[in-house]
Amino acid sequence: MTTVIRQDDLIDSVADALQFISYYHPADFIRAVHGAYQREANPAAKDAMAQILINSRMCAMGHRPICQDTGIVTVFLRVGMQVQWAGDLSVTDMVNEGVRRAYGHPDNVLRASILDDPDGARKNTGDNTPAVIHYELVPGDTVEVHVAAKGGGSEAKSKFAMLNPSDSVVDWVLQVVPQMGAGWCPPGMLGIGIGGTAEKAMLLAKEALLDPIDIHDLAERGAANRAEQLRLELMQKVNALGIGAQGLGGLTTVLDVKVKDYPTHAANKAVALIPNCAATRHTHFTLTGAGPALQQPPRLEDWPEIVWEVGDSVRRVNLDTVTAEDVKTWQPGETLLLSGTMLTGRDAAHKKMVDLLAKGESLPVDLSGRFIYYVGPVDPVRDEVVGPAGPTTATRMDKFTRTMLEQTGLLGMIGKAERGQAAIEAIRDNASVYLMAVGGAAYLVAQAIKSARVVGFPELGMEAIYEFGVEDMPVTVAVSSDGESVHRTGPQTWQAKIEQGVVELQ
Ligand code: SF4
Repeated sequence: MTTVIRQDDLIDSVADALQFISYYHPADFIRAVHGAYQREANPAAKDAMAQILINSRMCAMGHRPICQDTGIVTVFLRVGMQVQWAGDLSVTDMVNEGVRRAYGHPDNVLRASILDDPDGARKNTGDNTPAVIHYELVPGDTVEVHVAAKGGGSEAKSKFAMLNPSDSVVDWVLQVVPQMGAGWCPPGMLGIGIGGTAEKAMLLAKEALLDPIDIHDLAERGAANRAEQLRLELMQKVNALGIGAQGLGGLTTVLDVKVKDYPTHAANKAVALIPNCAATRHTHFTLTGAGPALQQPPRLEDWPEIVWEVGDSVRRVNLDTVTAEDVKTWQPGETLLLSGTMLTGRDAAHKKMVDLLAKGESLPVDLSGRFIYYVGPVDPVRDEVVGPAGPTTATRMDKFTRTMLEQTGLLGMIGKAERGQAAIEAIRDNASVYLMAVGGAAYLVAQAIKSARVVGFPELGMEAIYEFGVEDMPVTVAVSSDGESVHRTGPQTWQAKIEQGVVELQ
């Protein structure tokens, strides 16, 4: 029997799903982070997970995005061969119309992050279209749709290799995960695709991330095939690396490892790895011809009520009076509460500033003695001064760091995850400092921002330079003025503790 599906039913369902996943973590993800939080032995990693859980609850209540990076939309459609479409748009256009409506929703505007002409002008398309869409034609009379919004920081850490048939997938994963750093905002999941061809392996890895978190059930029932054996082995061995939440060192780097495989050529063993981050966002729906399939709100009781308090020993910093001498007293791993004013800037603003400096021209704003926050916020709604505004991956600014420190008098930087060697050396040579905020806790961070105004490059939109007035914004000293990096010392320490059995993985 033929089912007729109206184009508005798909458009409305996609738009609803994207709004829904922008502020509701999947319940299985919350349960898994909460379990990891309860088991965590490293206080810094536990703090980071507390912020992720508090942020998640606030977003569920406030219907605002979990993360300032509201993602690139990825959609998998399984279209029944008995389905007939009513309307004049292509299915791809219907999905993109759903994306457009979701990202421009006036009650919860989402950040448009998609740039056209990726190796040229990199111009923002303005509405987060186009989505990346995959189709499968299957027997039946329904349309099954999986919708995900994937953060750029975690997508950036995707890996692929064409292994020799005798090579070990486990060895390869254990080699690449430490190279991924913390820019993918762990704790999260790994999707692994094995076999097929190069592009098939990547697709399997991405699809694997859509499955629910069930590694503990698998451990109880036991592996039934090679893919399940790999899941259990990799879960244990990746967590034994000690990378931990936000790369600070700890017991949980991954909440689950998903493996999908497919037959392959005798000469090949393609393997792909795609991580999913603290802002894991996906849902699904089925269209049956009976109208749009709207998401059912979860129960708020599914979110744990975590209280996170900074200790009495926390150092309060006034950004408007802080000096280079003060910065030298800050210890690696120390928590600071920042108040006062800071500037913002990320990829495009840094490129422009460094280009201006190279030409001997002046910058739109004086950076001397100031801190810059690597962020591209969501636009505000209602009475907000700024939308969710968590940190972006700092390593992308590494190549600009020495120039910025030496030619502008910039005092320090705030971002997420580790810094590379060149940036660490520039920080040490200039007795500067790098502070980290928790990636994936964007709405929570935004509560500390009391004012925001654009002070440079307004044409860059969310990448413009803002001046934020902040009050008690929590950050951790990640690279101290003498060049010590907690993203190096933390994982080393916790890997050793796990190896020596001082702490136990569960
Ligand atoms: S949690 Fe981290 S990787 Fe994920 S979308 Fe947010 S900033 Fe990007």
